[in-house]
Amino acid sequence: MTLYSPSANWAADEHHLFSDSAQKFYKQEMVPQIESWHEKGIVDRKFWLKAGEAGMMGGSVAEEYGGSGGDMGFDSIALYEQARTGDFSWGYGIQSIVIHYVTAYGSHEQKIKWLPKLISGEKIGALAMTEPGAGSDVQSITTSAAKNGNQYTINGSKIFITNGQSADLVIVTSKTDKNAGAKGVSLIMVETSEVDGFRRGKNLKKLGLKGNDTSELFFENVKVPLTNLIGNEEGQGFYQLMKQLPWERLCIGITALGAIDYALDETIKYVKQRHAFGKRIMDFQNTRFKLAEVKTKAEVLRSFINDCVSRLTKNELDAATASMAKWWGSQIQNEVMDECLQLHGGYGFMLEYPIARMYADARVQSIYGGTNEIMKELIARSIDK
Ligand SMILES: Cc1cc2nc3c(=O)[nH]c(=O)nc-3n(C[C@H](O)[C@H](O)[C@H](O)COP(=O)(O)OP(=O)(O)OC[C@H]3O[C@@H](n4cnc5c(N)ncnc54)[C@H](O)[C@@H]3O)c2cc1C
Repeated sequence: MTLYSPSANWAADEHHLFSDSAQKFYKQEMVPQIESWHEKGIVDRKFWLKAGEAGMMGGSVAEEYGGSGGDMGFDSIALYEQARTGDFSWGYGIQSIVIHYVTAYGSHEQKIKWLPKLISGEKIGALAMTEPGAGSDVQSITTSAAKNGNQYTINGSKIFITNGQSADLVIVTSKTDKNAGAKGVSLIMVETSEVDGFRRGKNLKKLGLKGNDTSELFFENVKVPLTNLIGNEEGQGFYQLMKQLPWERLCIGITALGAIDYALDETIKYVKQRHAFGKRIMDFQNTRFKLAEVKTKAEVLRSFINDCVSRLTKNELDAATASMAKWWGSQIQNEVMDECLQLHGGYGFMLEYPIARMYADARVQSIYGGTNEIMKELIARSIDK
């Protein structure tokens, strides 16, 4: 399977070529490493560099900043093909989101400084919004950035930050004005190796995503130059987040589709070779109907995701539609993983079978990137204006 639906109008020959090379790259360089990443709880830095060399991370970024100068279709393919291997350890989704913040709002100097290294994998990015006391309610964050001379002094803590153990460049959502509500939120880049007062908590133990590092981050009088503000004025952070969320949310829909395609392939293989009552598991009508349902869900999702990617490449994807892709994709992913695991019987519960891991990995897709309840609230607002 590929990301494309048969009528995908956004995919040109270059996209197909990129899909082929991404598939080969992940098969050769990622799949053999997965077990060791799961044991260590983190992806090797060497892999980030290899992914950079293979051109996985800068598909849609202008060539002058180290990218390939293509459209968002390339980023969508890189994400889909990763999920299609059945593994979510590599935190490219967040890297891509960080790249897009810098691309959309960074000054020329910031772009020159950060983008080439994010694209080559020399620098790993993280986006730090969530705090112990503020998740869905982003406006209530308390991390502050006080202006002193030509610096911001950042104080606060963030939790559940993807790539948290490895990140070199962390976009921190901070309050530059505590009394201005959403208008007081700004995005500020912290270069972790260049500051004092920055500390990482331990690599958090999770239900799934075992090979991806997730951490608490602490900022104690961390001083960064005013030029690390993303955008040209303070107080734009909430607006910037809202504008970038369609991509963040579509990322989750795209990876849901990749995971579903992989789970279906694995399950078909399994039920064809396993026997009970003198027949293949595949021959029971229940199995055939369940797999027919899963296949239908996958194709319906593929059509919608392709429509979203097509709109994204034209910069026409709105927040409500992207929220639909996120909640629907992750909901279907969870349903599919449950059905596919069931068809594996007891073996499906064993971690040596990919379906067990994928079942656990799917669970968080309806939580991060904005919970599915928040997605429904956003969609509801768009129909109750
Ligand atoms: C593995 C993992 C990786 C993550 N990576 C990142 C990251 O890289 N960067 C980052 O900033 N964050 C990250 N997060 C955090 C994630 O985005 C938050 O967990 C999520 O937004 C929910 O916030 P919360 O956990 O505080 O839940 P809460 O906001 O406390 O929500 C608890 C429950 O209440 C519901 N709820 C809340 N408000 C409403 C409402 N208005 N209407 C209806 N229901 C509501 C929620 O849907 C949820 O079911 C990650 C989380 C996990 C688990």
